[in-house]
Amino acid sequence: MTDDRSATGPGGGKRRIILLMGAAGAGKGTQADRLAVELGTPHLASGNLFRAAIAARTELGARARVYMDRGELVPDALTISMFMDELSRPSAERGAILDGFPRTVGQAAALDNVLAERGDRIDAVVYIEVPDDVLVERLAGRWVCPTCGTPYHELTDPPAASGRCDRDGTDLVQRDDDRPEVVRARLERQIPPMLEVIDHYDRSGRVVRVDGRQSIDAVTSDIMAHLAARADGRA
Ligand SMILES: [Zn+2]
Repeated sequence: MTDDRSATGPGGGKRRIILLMGAAGAGKGTQADRLAVELGTPHLASGNLFRAAIAARTELGARARVYMDRGELVPDALTISMFMDELSRPSAERGAILDGFPRTVGQAAALDNVLAERGDRIDAVVYIEVPDDVLVERLAGRWVCPTCGTPYHELTDPPAASGRCDRDGTDLVQRDDDRPEVVRARLERQIPPMLEVIDHYDRSGRVVRVDGRQSIDAVTSDIMAHLAARADGRA
């Protein structure tokens, strides 16, 4: 078979660990799933890892559960152990897409150290860039019918008559979490630490920036083109 795996060396060549970054509303989860298919590697999302480990009753899962049951954050070291556990599976032989972690420079440095101990490193950091105003438009455009529960979106799935449910004509309402000022405040908390993580990896030239305002397909093909170019440069 002559597919892209030859770029990273046949069987047992260096695997590619890719970190996917982007604010809420940037389409990160969607792209992570697509990249996982394109690259044939697992998509490791921090939230899913916890849930899967708890469901599988692993020792790490049991430890994470104690914190989650108390409504506390799972400690970084435990989160990193979970990622390393997943990375040691045969399914991650060719690499993995990391999503949702690290969220801070401290977490990034800790992850780098643990990866380095095993001769691994973050190969590329893909940053899906979307301007704040566009993120707010996307995230704050959600409305719901209080009568039948049908969801709408101002941009992508608007009702036929503005502000009214197509099914029953009820005035649509917005959940508190979807109100523009709440969305904006959430982004203001989320974005600065994310940019610090991106800057951390930018110093070693590992960041790939992609315009997240494009269509979902265009974003995927942009990311794939960037990653292929990086793999060629290293070969
Ligand atoms: Zn309705």
